Amino acid sequence: MSSNINEDFIVEYIRSLTPKREGILEELEEYVSEHFVPIVEPEVAQLLRVILKLKNPKEILEVGTAIGYSSIVMASTLDSCKITTIERREDMIELAKENIEKAKMSDRIKIISGDAEEVLDEIEGKYDLIFMDAAKGQYISFFEKAKKLLNENGLIISDNVLFKGMVASDELVIRRKKTIVKRLRSYLEYINDIEGFTSCIIPIGDGVALTFREE
Ligand code: SAH
Ligand code: MG
Repeated sequence: MSSNINEDFIVEYIRSLTPKREGILEELEEYVSEHFVPIVEPEVAQLLRVILKLKNPKEILEVGTAIGYSSIVMASTLDSCKITTIERREDMIELAKENIEKAKMSDRIKIISGDAEEVLDEIEGKYDLIFMDAAKGQYISFFEKAKKLLNENGLIISDNVLFKGMVASDELVIRRKKTIVKRLRSYLEYINDIEGFTSCIIPIGDGVALTFREE
């Protein structure tokens, strides 16, 4: 099915070049193809790998664990990084824990159970990189809270910001997604205007925004 963001042939071509996943990541990709769980697309996972290698973050915060796929992608890219990841669904947390254990990464990936709206107010510590990949309608609120936890020269990566292309075109918007789309548009305006940060939007996967903190 088309993502409405790139032509299918472009997506297929880029994916054909993406190195093949093995082991636990391959298993998880098989799992999600049979169960409905959204995980980062292969080209977005690859973007995360390159950014991690460039940035070498020590502490990473993720909002939206699901089954732990993107956490495992990041932890397997850099042996030195630690990840704190927030998830509100207990069934997901259970699966993520199993997967992270299987990947032998339990010492580096810590799951916090709860709604990110609350958890982001409560957690302490500073992060070099924050990956936002949860309730898309709440991104402004997540960002407001997350930016206090972000180190100088830190980066916030937000996933699914183009939301199947709907964010860029009214013609694609389906009625029950109207509110999310409106909120994502406000979010993209917000991160492009906010002082002290520089943002860009990359049209791969479901749309990825990068927001760099200057100070
Ligand atoms: N980052 C994962 C995919 C995350 S899917 C990967 O790429 O592998 C989004 C997840 O965010 C879902 O599991 C959902 O339960 C969780 N989520 C949505 N809203 C949330 C919230 N407000 N607080 C915590 N988790 C939330
Ligand atoms: Mg996503």
